[in-house]
Amino acid sequence: MIEVLRKIVQAVNDADDLTQALELIVHEVRGAMQTEVCTVYLKDRSSQRLVFRATEGLNKEKIGAFSLSIDEGLVGWVASRGEMLNLDDAMAHPSFQLVPGLGEESFNTFMGAPIIHQRDLLGVLVVQQADTRRFSDAEEAFLITISAQLAAIIAHAEVTGAAMAVDTPAEQVARIQGVAGSPGIAIGQAVYVSPTADLGAVPSRRASNRRQEMRIFRSALARVRDDIEVVAENLREELSPEDHALFGVYLSILDDSTLGGEVAALIKAGEWAQGALSQVMIKHIRHFERMEHSYLRERAVDVRDLGTRVLTYLQDENENREDWPERTILVADEITASTLGEVPRERLAGVVSLRGSANSHAAIVARGMGIPAVMGAYDLPYNRLGDKPLVVDGYSGRVYINPSRQVLDRFQVAVDQDQALSEELAGLRGELCQTLDGKRIPLWVNTGIIEDLEGALDQGAEGVGLYRTEVGFLLRDRFPSEEEQRLLYREQLEVFAPSPVTMRTLDIGGDKSLPYFPIQEDNPFLGWRGIRVTLDHPEIFLAQVRAMLKANEGLGNLRVLLPMISAVEEADEALALIRRCHEEVIAEGYMEGLPPVGVMIEVPSAVWLTGALASRVDFLSVGSNDLTQYLLAVDRNNARVADLYHGLHPAVLGALRQIVDAAHLKGCSVSICGEMAGDPRAVPLLLAMGFDQLSMSAINLPRVKKVINSLTMADANEALAGLEGIHSSREVIEIAEGLIERKGLDRYVRLNRDSG
Ligand code: PEP
Ligand code: MG
Repeated sequence: MIEVLRKIVQAVNDADDLTQALELIVHEVRGAMQTEVCTVYLKDRSSQRLVFRATEGLNKEKIGAFSLSIDEGLVGWVASRGEMLNLDDAMAHPSFQLVPGLGEESFNTFMGAPIIHQRDLLGVLVVQQADTRRFSDAEEAFLITISAQLAAIIAHAEVTGAAMAVDTPAEQVARIQGVAGSPGIAIGQAVYVSPTADLGAVPSRRASNRRQEMRIFRSALARVRDDIEVVAENLREELSPEDHALFGVYLSILDDSTLGGEVAALIKAGEWAQGALSQVMIKHIRHFERMEHSYLRERAVDVRDLGTRVLTYLQDENENREDWPERTILVADEITASTLGEVPRERLAGVVSLRGSANSHAAIVARGMGIPAVMGAYDLPYNRLGDKPLVVDGYSGRVYINPSRQVLDRFQVAVDQDQALSEELAGLRGELCQTLDGKRIPLWVNTGIIEDLEGALDQGAEGVGLYRTEVGFLLRDRFPSEEEQRLLYREQLEVFAPSPVTMRTLDIGGDKSLPYFPIQEDNPFLGWRGIRVTLDHPEIFLAQVRAMLKANEGLGNLRVLLPMISAVEEADEALALIRRCHEEVIAEGYMEGLPPVGVMIEVPSAVWLTGALASRVDFLSVGSNDLTQYLLAVDRNNARVADLYHGLHPAVLGALRQIVDAAHLKGCSVSICGEMAGDPRAVPLLLAMGFDQLSMSAINLPRVKKVINSLTMADANEALAGLEGIHSSREVIEIAEGLIERKGLDRYVRLNRDSG
């Protein structure tokens, strides 16, 4: 059964559009279940009716022309209850209704399963037959399994179907919903960067110079041939002549008379070389994969391998592109800090990542750079985007493909409003951050790259609450040396001196993997992360701390922060290493004292150990991004559960209060450096809890200052007191937003804004 299921799902996945996918579903399911009829009804979004969309066995002329209301007939019974229905005598059921012209008269056995995707009913999958017999339990289970599997594919095909507008009616706009990653609106031109050597991820694109593309293709082919001939030669002695002859067969796959010729023909027709290669190779891989004979099926692996080799060389040739559009919207399967670094800063207008969520590190880096971003847009038909115009709405998490003049005008108004707002907020730059009744609260920034510094200073930041040192590591192809690190850190410290700069020791693992030190684990967020890695590799830790200390020479504004502490032993060990480094550099003539050292509270165990940790270190900093993910058991990087990820969850707020109280009891200062500190709705609550500093992405700083400077402590305390007895995030949000609205601050906060 698994094999049949796999085959159906694969076939449907390969379909070009929704109609073809549905045709395949009814055809394959009818075959697999050996019934006479299989039909799919899909719910039409605007009319809310169940439309007869595909059938094998009933009257095909009715496809698209016939529909039922949501609770009409047996199909409506299944749809409105979201339940399976299995009947040996359909006509005896009270909801039975005979529709003239559908051709159902002779089929009395009926089984229907709802197609549900993320709680949303998409339609109904029905099988029918003439024999009066009840479908068996196993058949029932099969239909449920197949409809659950197909739901995601249908949902995806529905959305990308709308995006067909990319190719067809130019006036239509396709809208894809993702997750808001970094605020702002970007209007620009899509550039998709495909992951290296992935045939399935190459977009189709018109060649700007066919001759050039053909030349590149020929040269890549020649290089692959050379490689294979070298391997064949090396193995000549070890293989029998028959086995050795296989290399000849292997090479011939790329000949002009076979696949090579097909690729060349597509290039001649105007496709760029990578697109032509991937289209031809994928067609043949699928063909081989569907073969019954296992020997032939395995040839798919050879074709894929060859295709990937050629693609690698083609990508080599296309690397270092210099023709980035003036307003590039970077689209990638998974945006990383290094992909962001590829585009010249002045040309990078916006970012769309198919994977990831609001608190993925790529989103945080985009926020640091002030670039609008949408994450988790997995429905985006990236391989058909070409270089189409896009609008990225980083407030609502939507991407518009091929926007019409009307949509563009609407967004241009939003861009102008943003501009006016930033100019207005820029006036706050020289003002202190304090409540109307005089409570001071320093606003610090989170940084990672040098570019962040200018933005931070422009926004009037009073210090750096979190410098993510790993970003400097991510942008290289090896670990930076101690001296390279010293120079990097010196720059950060100098720009902000004498204000404090909090440097976090290397925090890799989770969703941050170094290209030259990959960590592959089934459960990376619960695995080898942060301090766990660096304590296991003291040589990396020691070099980093020494570089920080040396960079601090003559400045004295360094603070060192330890990530992912989950036990006191980790803090003790790290502190001992830091003291050792300090003694070493003192012996080398360093003059500064031991800098303040702090730990991050971002793991639930650390919440309960706050007091013990506070008595060991000089300060604490709450990493609410991770703390939220670990307290709520919601992956911060997964768009599918983004709705469950709430910093304003009562459990998270309860933990934050507990941390502040426990830290202050030990006389230890405590800041918060997760993204929540930059959420103007959360800020009054954090203020009332007693956080000593708030550290955030520079882009959020002016709005946060505006909110704080418009409130009294009584307002903040009242909002916090209002949470007493509240157990749902929705109610917390109502209270938090209520305060913002009462103070007339919604303009700065953009509550639930839909710019389009
Ligand atoms: C956090 O977890 O809140 C934090 C600030 O660290 P990072 O986002 O880099 O994991
Ligand atoms: Mg963290």
